[in-house]
Amino acid sequence: MKKEFVCIACPVGCRLTVWDEGGEVKVAGNTCPRGKAYGVQEFTAPMRTVTSSAPVKHGDQAMCSVKTDAPVPKDKVPDVLRAIRMIQIKAPVKVGECVLRDVAGTGANVVATRRVRDKKR
Ligand code: SF4
Repeated sequence: MKKEFVCIACPVGCRLTVWDEGGEVKVAGNTCPRGKAYGVQEFTAPMRTVTSSAPVKHGDQAMCSVKTDAPVPKDKVPDVLRAIRMIQIKAPVKVGECVLRDVAGTGANVVATRRVRDKKR
């Protein structure tokens, strides 16, 4: 069965058609090798970088935006979001600081994407 994707490997957004032909994944519509790689990945094992926010204890902000430091399997995204909801970050937090390792067994870490200062400062 053919599937259609928009390549997100760069802002051009080529429309890809991807299908299996005798066990080999074929890609059409890409205008560079990155698009082929993206099409094959999306067809065989789609991955996503997860962005969300988590509560902060004793911070000058109640929430801190976070993201995974690597893409995770698309079917693991609900588990990753559940795990992020359980995090209790303690202020202060720096941008890039790891707040959860190996989230949902994916091997990716969750890192802060904004700074949150201690409430006292
Ligand atoms: S196929 Fe290449 S040029 Fe087209 S969107 Fe993907 S990365 Fe960009």
